[in-house]
Amino acid sequence: MDLVLLGAPGAGKGTQGALLADALGVPKIATGDMLRDAVRQGTELGLKAKAIMDAGHLVSDDIVLGLVRERLAGDGANGAIFDGYPRNVAQAQSLDGLLGELGRRIGAVVYIDVDDDAIVQRMSGRTTDPVTGVVYHHTHNPPPSDIAARCVQRDDDREETVRHRLEVYRQSTAPLVDHYRQAGVAVHTVDGTRAIPEVQAEILGLLGR
Ligand code: AMP
Repeated sequence: MDLVLLGAPGAGKGTQGALLADALGVPKIATGDMLRDAVRQGTELGLKAKAIMDAGHLVSDDIVLGLVRERLAGDGANGAIFDGYPRNVAQAQSLDGLLGELGRRIGAVVYIDVDDDAIVQRMSGRTTDPVTGVVYHHTHNPPPSDIAARCVQRDDDREETVRHRLEVYRQSTAPLVDHYRQAGVAVHTVDGTRAIPEVQAEILGLLGR
């Protein structure tokens, strides 16, 4: 099973992707998480990526391709849920190529639809546990009390940066819906404004699970 999650930043790809990974028994490959790990660890790649991420731009296709290639040779050898990757048509073509070399192809795309105003509202309440990377929301999904104090806002979740990320999404990532449709891949659209378990149940239903 190779599945791509599409949707604007803050649509819930990370949350739904983690639940799907558990339900389907394949790892979630989230290039944003991998890049944030590199930033935390202070690696050369992390140092290069940090300013680009904080500004809400995309890091280079080569960097993320390298990260994904490693995962496909490791824990993603038998399938994966791609979250935040691919982010543009060139990345989608590279992924098609990588999977093709392994005799695999994207089986389905789940597009999580949330309008811009709801996204901006969500992001302003979003808070992340820097230790586990788990994302919470102050009102809708508060962190457990024992870790609440260490949760922080992501540097790129400030309103101005979120608006820029939405613009990047519209220009570069949204066209992937058509890319996959034209390639004959099933693209399932779900309303991502509902409660987390409802969205999850609908996705599993659409995937026939
Ligand atoms: P995310 O956690 O998916 O919202 O990603 C956070 C940031 O990491 C993005 O705004 C980009 O700067 C960078 N990033 C994550 N995935 C990619 C990707 N596939 N291509 C380019 N940049 C990415």
